[in-house]
Amino acid sequence: MATIEMESVGCISSSAGVEDEEIQAAVSSHHPQQYSSKPPNIVPSGIGPTTFHELLECPVCTNSMYPPIHQCHNGHTLCSTCKTRVHNRCPTCRQELGDIRCLALEKVAESLELPCKYHSLGCPEIFPYYSKLKHEGVCNFRPYNCPYAGSECSVTGDIPCLVTHLRDDHKVDMHTGCTFNHRYVKSNPREVENATWMLTVFHCFGKYFCLHFEAFQLGMAPVYMAFLRFMGDENESRNYSYSLEVGANGRKLIWEGTPRSIRDSHRKVRDSHDGLIIQRNMALFFSGGDRKELKLRVTGRIWKEQQNPDSGVCIPNLCS
Ligand SMILES: [Zn+2]
Ligand SMILES: [Zn+2]
Ligand SMILES: [Zn+2]
Ligand SMILES: [Zn+2]
Repeated sequence: MATIEMESVGCISSSAGVEDEEIQAAVSSHHPQQYSSKPPNIVPSGIGPTTFHELLECPVCTNSMYPPIHQCHNGHTLCSTCKTRVHNRCPTCRQELGDIRCLALEKVAESLELPCKYHSLGCPEIFPYYSKLKHEGVCNFRPYNCPYAGSECSVTGDIPCLVTHLRDDHKVDMHTGCTFNHRYVKSNPREVENATWMLTVFHCFGKYFCLHFEAFQLGMAPVYMAFLRFMGDENESRNYSYSLEVGANGRKLIWEGTPRSIRDSHRKVRDSHDGLIIQRNMALFFSGGDRKELKLRVTGRIWKEQQNPDSGVCIPNLCS
């Protein structure tokens, strides 16, 4: 099945397209040089960082160890996850494991400062060992999930890689420019299923945007919804606005908003109704004719806001 093949689609290497290179250049110039705020000498002299890394790597699963770190009577260490799996036998020397914590190593870990694991993707941050994990969960440089909706796609990667993936693997339509004029036609508008959706990718201002259009059930009523997502982080998405317009017969609906980051799942955006919502009766009215066919013309525009990027604008339903 196609979905199984998708899982093997790696997004490790980015495409060599000219556009992609431009994006990467724009992204990297946007961030300070690595280690600009702190000196790179982050471990006590005499012992290289690799040694510490190796010490704190669980010899069984090779993940970084966090307290409680365990050891056997002979001093072999292992992580708490592995400890529960080895049936009280040290995986290194096969002796009985017991319940000994390795406080010394826990203390060493505490004193360490290590670069974020997305260092190679451009993150310049350095953290104490124990807060590193927390940061990595929200790091701006962590890979993005594939923004395609309607299927379980497990591909992750940076933006240029995901754009290539959307185009090649999901066969998504790509458009260049900041205005659009789309026609959505559906022959049987009575069928409103969650699976009905469309995605178009727009390239403008050197960035990529996902325009979603879909039909779903809102309470008892079927509705259509269109919204835009920004392929980048939430902070940066606030620099852009968009408008959507749909209408016919002398009536129109206009939506103006800020694109949501693709860090927010497609479903989360949809469930927060952060977009143009068209009731089915209105949609059929806009379609004209005998209401047998859905024909919606959605026009839209994306623009860049002239605001200070440091001003703390807040999307209401994102601020808890
Ligand atoms: Zn382990
Ligand atoms: Zn042992
Ligand atoms: Zn980071
Ligand atoms: Zn995908």
